[in-house]
Amino acid sequence: MYSINRYSKLFKLSISLKILSRKLDGEFFNTSRITFGQQNLFSFVTHEKTVCSSNNKFRISVPTCAYSTATNRCRCTHLTTSNAKEYLDNYDTILLDCDGVIWGTDYTTRIGNVSKALTKLRDLYGKKLLFVTNNSLYSPETFLDKFISFGYKDVREDELFCVSTASALYLKEVLKITGRVYIIGTRAMETELRSAGVDCFGVGADPDLVTRDIAEMRKASFADDVEAVLVGFDEHLNYNKLYKAASYIKRQPPRGSGVNRCHYLATSNVEMGTWIGGGLYRPTTGVIVSCVTAACGQEPGIIGKPSPFLYDCIRSRFPNIEKARTIMIGDSLKSDITFAQNVGIDSGLVLSGATDLNTLSGVCDTKKPTFYFESIGIFAEAL
Ligand SMILES: [Mg+2]
Repeated sequence: MYSINRYSKLFKLSISLKILSRKLDGEFFNTSRITFGQQNLFSFVTHEKTVCSSNNKFRISVPTCAYSTATNRCRCTHLTTSNAKEYLDNYDTILLDCDGVIWGTDYTTRIGNVSKALTKLRDLYGKKLLFVTNNSLYSPETFLDKFISFGYKDVREDELFCVSTASALYLKEVLKITGRVYIIGTRAMETELRSAGVDCFGVGADPDLVTRDIAEMRKASFADDVEAVLVGFDEHLNYNKLYKAASYIKRQPPRGSGVNRCHYLATSNVEMGTWIGGGLYRPTTGVIVSCVTAACGQEPGIIGKPSPFLYDCIRSRFPNIEKARTIMIGDSLKSDITFAQNVGIDSGLVLSGATDLNTLSGVCDTKKPTFYFESIGIFAEAL
């Protein structure tokens, strides 16, 4: 008996690949940035303070801007304590990502002044604050506890939009499935699906023998009436789970099962990993989804950001929200900023999480946010 593709192996492999990519970055990427990335780097880093000119003298630079096609607001303006209020007056509703925005991407690091900033935005300036997260680890109840532990006690459960809740809604209300759901994911996902009346299984360690013997593999337990495979974060991912997910998605459901086809869904596929300290890199949901996608040869339907479905969930709960007066604030270009662009709302990128200024400077103007700023803590002092 042996086991391959376990999560722990992915974790260790990712560290090696990250170290390798850092070496490659130093050897190759610098060249490409000089040749075609310099324009972006110049126009963006110059927002900050100074740049080194060709004659090696420092000079104060002038910010440059592109324009949002959705709103015609200036794209990629640097928000500071001096200008934040002027721009925030354009919005009534602020959608906020959590990891990397309210707390650090390791879920434990505190970001300065967050609680004070949130209280000020809501109580003093009357902004509607809604929290929109792709994190499939936590249920809404756990998120509430987490907010309290980080010092913000005023958040209500109806202000939280978790991808696990949205997944249940999508399965129940959009696909209207009647069969079972095989989950590669978390207890929080299982809880939300069951609360919505969706029958599901698969969370936790797979119970079957891990083997490469075909006769033994055929003895593994399979349900006949699986109508969807839903993938999120799963620390118990192993070869059997890939084998079962691929089989459910690719096979014709057995006759008499009452199921016509098996849908393949994922909570998200853009969050690939985070540094967790000590030189260790933690693969996250996107890596697990990539494994299943490779195994079954199909792309999943995405429930979380950047898919606009989470915005549909928000509008179903708060129908009076106006797109033109709504902004999404997050730390991920691929997830939060692309979500805002897909929905057609303005966006703000914080540098307190997954994206640093160099990364932002390297993307093309059409992928840049409307604003960027150091953290939402600036609102504590700005207003
Ligand atoms: Mg985030």
